[in-house]
Amino acid sequence: MIRPILAHPDPRLRMVSRPVEHFDDKLRALVDDMFETMYDAQGIGLAAVQIGVHLRLAVMHVEDNPKRVLVNPEYEALGEPMPLDEGCLSVPGMRDRTKTRRDWVRVRAQDVDGTPYEFEARGLEAACVQHECDHIDGKLYIDHLTPVRRSRLLKRYQKERERG
Ligand SMILES: [Zn+2]
Repeated sequence: MIRPILAHPDPRLRMVSRPVEHFDDKLRALVDDMFETMYDAQGIGLAAVQIGVHLRLAVMHVEDNPKRVLVNPEYEALGEPMPLDEGCLSVPGMRDRTKTRRDWVRVRAQDVDGTPYEFEARGLEAACVQHECDHIDGKLYIDHLTPVRRSRLLKRYQKERERG
């Protein structure tokens, strides 16, 4: 089932999500909905908080990498900061340049059955991990923009939303 995606400045996007503790059919159904919602919106990642579910959970499918389910994810930054034209399904229609994403991370997470696993991600997939982990802690990529870029983007965003 495709779920509605919350859009900035919805305050629910700013809440910190709680750990997933129950690895049951309900979680599997939620993950299925998240993939369906993400593909429908042509995104490469989606955190549960973006559909109003405050669990530490995200799904990703970045380029040729495998589909990933990140339950209770944590990452360690291994690479260097890289510039990136970043966007977010919760800030629709906007993109801007961030400079804080690392180009290489090691991720520790659980799968949908609760089994711990690890992987390393590079480039866009590494950035996506950081972007989704931000969502889980109530942060958005616009928080990483310089103040000038952020206020310019938010002005444009507000105008487009007023126009409908
Ligand atoms: Zn996002």
